[in-house]
Amino acid sequence: MPEVEIKNLTKKYKSQKGEKITAINDVNLKIEDKHYNTLLGPSGCGKTTLLRIIAGLIKPTCGKILFDGEDVTDVLPEERNIGFVFQDFAVFPHLDVWHNVSYGPTVKGWPKEKIKKTTQENLKLVGLANRPKALPKELSGGMQQRLGLARALATQSKLLLLDEPLSALDAKIGAYLRYELRKIVKKNHLTAIHVTHNQEEAMTISDNIILMRGGEIVQTGSPEELYQRPNSVFAANFLGKCNFFKCDKISSHKASYHGKIIKTEKEIKDKKIILGIRPEKIHLESNIDEGMITGKIELINFLGHLYEYRINVNGATVKAYKRYKEEKVRRKFKLGDKISFWFHPEDVLIFKEPNDFKKELRLD
Ligand code: ADP
Ligand code: MG
Repeated sequence: MPEVEIKNLTKKYKSQKGEKITAINDVNLKIEDKHYNTLLGPSGCGKTTLLRIIAGLIKPTCGKILFDGEDVTDVLPEERNIGFVFQDFAVFPHLDVWHNVSYGPTVKGWPKEKIKKTTQENLKLVGLANRPKALPKELSGGMQQRLGLARALATQSKLLLLDEPLSALDAKIGAYLRYELRKIVKKNHLTAIHVTHNQEEAMTISDNIILMRGGEIVQTGSPEELYQRPNSVFAANFLGKCNFFKCDKISSHKASYHGKIIKTEKEIKDKKIILGIRPEKIHLESNIDEGMITGKIELINFLGHLYEYRINVNGATVKAYKRYKEEKVRRKFKLGDKISFWFHPEDVLIFKEPNDFKKELRLD
């Protein structure tokens, strides 16, 4: 417990000029019990609004929220039994670590022994048991965020809502806390809904990603599902890197790009399509083969674990990643070289051509 269900949910705001803004547009969603879920999407797509509606902090314009099948749409936030972690270290600045964590249980009127036990347990869980008397300002950003988490956990609610909990932190600390967060959620059998605009964070922390855009849900699934089978140009581009080829002369299992044939494993059903290839699925050849797509290497980036090649193809840039041993690759492909490349039909993603391709690639 609990499972969260969202039915035909819409939220419209009124801007200061009196214009209506649709922040959430008829969303339906089922969030499974004990899963780590992320609401992922560009800034302004409605993530915070959706999370706050689940918490009861914002009233929807229409639609329903159900917890374990029970309608909670009109239930007050304090009666929904949720823990909420905010982006900006929402802790009481004038209370020490101990009293920040014991605050929730105290307000709930729990017996003294239970308050003490819960506070102790949760401080231990987030690694702050040795700092009970410290004030928040005496803690690092990472510690303050862990204090915020301990506060949310101390209420012992099984539903944990987190709004960009790691965004304000140094990248390395944020990356470390991802694992800690997931561990705590799994150990305590909680259901987590975590808002982020960071695709890498969503990929590493989630059982289930809910990809949003413009107040709607684009796709939901495991990180692997979303990466391997993105349902749109937007999804492929938002989660990881992808090269796109606008094709013509389409038949069931192949299409033509500037006269070169690209074969696909899946049948192509649409008339106007874009094919997508992840950079790690591109195979470079130093021998020019007129049957293959050819291009010129215009940039080589050494990224530590791999090389990124930027190849100019018909004026557009195609990215390819190579993991060969440094020496071998260096000798084979050099800046300015003309090369050919190919890919396996099963690695070719097929997308319906969007009305506005450039807009699909925008990440904001
Ligand atoms: P996200 O968390 O994904 O960045 P939000 O849920 O904060 O997105 O916002 C979604 C949309 O609703 C944005 O266009 C934002 O400007 C608008 N919005 C959010 N809160 C308000 C508000 N209180 N009044 C008017 N518009 C709002
Ligand atoms: Mg937000």
